[in-house]
Amino acid sequence: MSRSHCRRWFSDERAADLSGESGCGYQNAVELTQSVHAYSAPVMARCASAAALVMWERDVVRPAARRRYGQDVARIELAAPSYQCRRIAGRRDRRLSEHAHANAMDIKGFTLADGRTVTVADGWRGAQRDRLFLHDVRDGACTYFQAVLSPDYNRDHRDHLHFDLGRDHMCR
Ligand SMILES: [Zn+2]
Repeated sequence: MSRSHCRRWFSDERAADLSGESGCGYQNAVELTQSVHAYSAPVMARCASAAALVMWERDVVRPAARRRYGQDVARIELAAPSYQCRRIAGRRDRRLSEHAHANAMDIKGFTLADGRTVTVADGWRGAQRDRLFLHDVRDGACTYFQAVLSPDYNRDHRDHLHFDLGRDHMCR
């Protein structure tokens, strides 16, 4: 999706560019308060990342919830603000996180239409239905994002799914 096409798609949600300190900041970002599903907090993301999120919700989350639970997701639970000026934890090269460019989002769970919340922290190795659903949505995200990190990646991701459109291609 081209940059101008993406901005037209989200014409009501555009966010002003931000030049943050230490190289943080973003251009061509949008702020979504909901799309296919409601969000627990607004998602501030570069346009392409926001578009990937919406397509993942439409093409992966919704069908997976219907398949595994026979109902829709009512709200996606964000683990933390999607934009954060910080470095990647535990790396010596002190590279900035994709969060520092509004190019990433962290998801800690899904509240279903019946009110139950499925969390990554409890569900990843929990009841079979939750395990299958969470693996469906993790695996499906790899089609839309460059990097998809789950509890299978490391302990820093034991309680959330990280998605980004950075340089590194990972699906774990
Ligand atoms: Zn993250």
